[in-house]
Amino acid sequence: MDDAKGLRIVMVAAEAAPYAKVGGLGDVVGALPRALEKLGARVAVVIPAYGDATAGAHPAAPCREVPGFDVTLGGVTEPAGIFHAVMPESGVDVYRVASRRYFARAGVYDDPATREGYPDNMERFVFFMKAAVGLVARLTPPFDVIHCHDSHAGLVPGVILENYDRVPALARARTVFTIHNLAYQGVFPREALALAGIAPRRFYPGSPFEFWGKVNFMKAGIALAHAVTTVSPTYAEEVQTPEMGVGLDGVLRERKADLHGIINGIDYGEWNPVSDPLIPARFSALRMEGKAACKKDLLESFGLGATAKRIPLVGMVSRLADQKGFDLVAEAMPRLARLDMQLVVLGTGQQKYHDMLRDIAARYPDRVAVHLGFDNALAHRVEAGCDLFLMPSRYEPCGLNQLYSLRYGTIPVVHRTGGLADTVVPYDGERGTGFSFPDYTADALLRALQDALHAYSDVAAWKRLVRRAMTRNWSWDASARRYLAVYRKGCDEGAAW
Ligand code: ADP
Repeated sequence: MDDAKGLRIVMVAAEAAPYAKVGGLGDVVGALPRALEKLGARVAVVIPAYGDATAGAHPAAPCREVPGFDVTLGGVTEPAGIFHAVMPESGVDVYRVASRRYFARAGVYDDPATREGYPDNMERFVFFMKAAVGLVARLTPPFDVIHCHDSHAGLVPGVILENYDRVPALARARTVFTIHNLAYQGVFPREALALAGIAPRRFYPGSPFEFWGKVNFMKAGIALAHAVTTVSPTYAEEVQTPEMGVGLDGVLRERKADLHGIINGIDYGEWNPVSDPLIPARFSALRMEGKAACKKDLLESFGLGATAKRIPLVGMVSRLADQKGFDLVAEAMPRLARLDMQLVVLGTGQQKYHDMLRDIAARYPDRVAVHLGFDNALAHRVEAGCDLFLMPSRYEPCGLNQLYSLRYGTIPVVHRTGGLADTVVPYDGERGTGFSFPDYTADALLRALQDALHAYSDVAAWKRLVRRAMTRNWSWDASARRYLAVYRKGCDEGAAW
């Protein structure tokens, strides 16, 4: 149990549940620190303080240890306030970086009024990264590992190398950069480097910061961190190919020896049908009655009448973005509506998908119902109340919803890509936990759904499939140990622990 004893880790990210969550990144940065703590590590998290850090369900207090300081952005200074709280049911320190100018507003990345990214996201996140490094330099005792997540922390290793290489507390720390989604790289004009305090001579064709004449935060993180990870073994391979490398496959191939695919775990404290307070009835692999009550409740709240026949309810919970396969759903819809099933969708995101889903629900009112919004409690009820969970993502670095689905006995139907390929074992009548389709086409999706409906018609076999899915273990423990191995590998040469 003491594998990580004494190791000090700080995570830098734009999201951490329960404070700020837009997608899976928030879940991971909320759960991984607690899993590492259970293994003996001492873990802290640094995120921006969106809105008012002192209000809401998880209020923080002004940090006594580091009361706040000025951050220089280009030639201008901007004050950073630091708020501190301890993550629920843990000893994980959470530091939130406040700024009246950049973070005293509701949205994380996007303006809720326009659903578009804030126009000053470059300044917001450069400020955040500089403030995060400044904070880490001030906290004592120093950290052994600085674990940066996604593009909003991508410049952190570069800022340390450029400005803190003589500060012992930072110079001896190992940096790890995790790619949660390679599609969001943080590409900005050259000016971003000047804001970050990185010398102009660092910017040249092919440099760690340069990407087609612009600055790329993700590229800098990949190129300059001691080790790089991404969130599933299959995605770690896929991103090294020109088809899926989103322009960074070459950089990733160069880091091949230091690139590790580690599947995300799930937080069974939050996602567990045996104890979930957000669902109307609880159930387990051995006592499934509660699931029927959840289904009835879900159908009612989505305004879909229960049918006389036993037909499966298919659920989707998703960001509404191009990645998530809604183009396939739209194309398959006329044929999908003729299948013996009902569909409920919970999602929010791009306007075109809001319009599209509204239109589909209006056209097939007894088959399809949608809820357009972000609603964590409803996400739990969809996981609990459905029979099948559809995840036709074009690509999927890891995916969490299919793991929640497995736990709730809601059999996933997925496109066989990235983490979906690593976690959903195709059902062959005896073994396996779900259904997957290899080609990203509407025809392939429909075939997989038809296979799933066919399997559903065999009540006894379906029960066995559900039980098998529910008893798979996706807890964070194994994944946290893999992260420890990466931290340790990075620390081989002369670290103090
Ligand atoms: P991504 O990070 O690409 O959005 P993941 O499957 O890794 O996809 O994680 C999505 C997370 O966000 C899950 O915890 C899911 O339940 C949650 N989520 C997505 N959309 C919604 C929504 N509209 N309401 C509530 N939760 C949502």
